[in-house]
Amino acid sequence: MIEHNFKKKFGQNFISDKNLLNAICTDAGLSEADQVLEIGAGGGSLTGAISSHVKRVVSYEIDKDLQSHLLSLGLKNVEFVFGDIMNYSLSEVENAFEGSYKMVANLPYYITTPIIFKFIKSKKLDSLTIMVQKEVAQRMVAGVGSKDYGILSVMVSFYGNAQIKRIVPRNLFYPQPNVDSAIVNIKIDRTKFFSINDEEFYKFVGYAFSMRRKTLRNNLSHNGISKENLAKLDEKVLSKRAEEFDILQLIEIYSKIIGSKDKFLL
Ligand code: SAH
Repeated sequence: MIEHNFKKKFGQNFISDKNLLNAICTDAGLSEADQVLEIGAGGGSLTGAISSHVKRVVSYEIDKDLQSHLLSLGLKNVEFVFGDIMNYSLSEVENAFEGSYKMVANLPYYITTPIIFKFIKSKKLDSLTIMVQKEVAQRMVAGVGSKDYGILSVMVSFYGNAQIKRIVPRNLFYPQPNVDSAIVNIKIDRTKFFSINDEEFYKFVGYAFSMRRKTLRNNLSHNGISKENLAKLDEKVLSKRAEEFDILQLIEIYSKIIGSKDKFLL
């Protein structure tokens, strides 16, 4: 383990277990021609493992204290960017890649969902293989009827297909976090709902799920959807809760409201 003053505020929980590092690479299905984006290089253990399987890695790290250590590793096919990933636009990050790329990362927990929402809409990203808090992983893969089903589940299945690859116990991290983790693989599939405006659908889903225990009618009208638009839906539908509908049903409801127009909310 490197000598380092671990910073909780950056979500620093490093891994050094060789089997786990290899397992992440296997779960990501890496091959020689791949280009990979890593977020959070940390001590560079995962960066090194990934780099031995692929053509090129671009790895972001916010903590400048790790800079000299990471550069001293001499990883030939890795470019480090020292900065906050959230301060770069999607296209700024993606300009570094010619063609498609994969994300592989042991994500800092405090910004897992913002990172997912930032990258999942990418048109160049093939897949995300990410270590996240177990509960977040369960929300990503949850289907209708599960208590974990919500906005994250709906939007992940809007953009692709998610699978939990393995559960990772907390004792494999240093410092040890107080939750277990899971490796999730999301394969992006842009053909799925290509005709739906994703930003607008995301807004709709946000409205529909805004208060979990309330009916669709309540949540949608509360968020400014007009009476005329609500009248396009059956009473039976309006009196249910968003969590009772799967993605296809939610798309159908959304499509009914917008009619032939693509924008309906603003
Ligand atoms: N990949 C390493 C470290 C994972 S811990 C390993 O698996 O051992 C998460 C890492 O993300 C930390 O090194 C932390 O400093 C970094 N990080 C946190 N927030 C970040 C941000 N906004 N942008 C880039 N890196 C970030």
